[in-house]
Amino acid sequence: MKLICIGRNYTDHIEELENEKPTDPVVFLKPDTSILLKKQPFFIPDFSNDIHHEVEVLVKIKKVGKYIEQKFAHKYYDEISLGIDFTARDLQSSLKKKGLPWEKAKAFDGAAVIGKWIPKEEFSNVDNIDFHLEKNEEIVQQGNTKLMLWKIDELIEYVSKYFTLKIGDVIFTGTPAGVGSVKPDDILTGYISDKQLFSIKIK
Ligand code: ZN
Repeated sequence: MKLICIGRNYTDHIEELENEKPTDPVVFLKPDTSILLKKQPFFIPDFSNDIHHEVEVLVKIKKVGKYIEQKFAHKYYDEISLGIDFTARDLQSSLKKKGLPWEKAKAFDGAAVIGKWIPKEEFSNVDNIDFHLEKNEEIVQQGNTKLMLWKIDELIEYVSKYFTLKIGDVIFTGTPAGVGSVKPDDILTGYISDKQLFSIKIK
């Protein structure tokens, strides 16, 4: 399975990183080896001094598809969760400056946190999901899927032009404002509404 990640999908996060507003979504992949194993801590890798948390709503694909139209996209996923796209910001900045791919900064082992899955039926509208991330019990990132530049169904149409979606693939839908660095002993907890979906210790 693969993780398909969307960058710059919330206007406030774009302003924070001084990026240009894109005409197309930014898309990158993480391999399955980047998934942080259940109940494991996140170990800060030795190649970075600036690991950032990016909390993101996740969508799990339940059906194989290619060139999926937006109007049919809802048939291709049935579970929603929350996760973290850990990013080695120092490394990413130097790669970006050189125009090089981001994988080393985004796709390393443990860089993808996947929370507990919630059936889609439990949401009255997937384009109005409140979520937040707490670091040591203080809210550091907060968002709602209604603020996405590209909504879930639009993202599925877009990414399936390039990649066949397979059962179990996960889409990371982008992060809102408030990304920041982590240090050893921090605890990150992610919530959709008031439901806690993950809790990660940093080491
Ligand atoms: Zn991200």
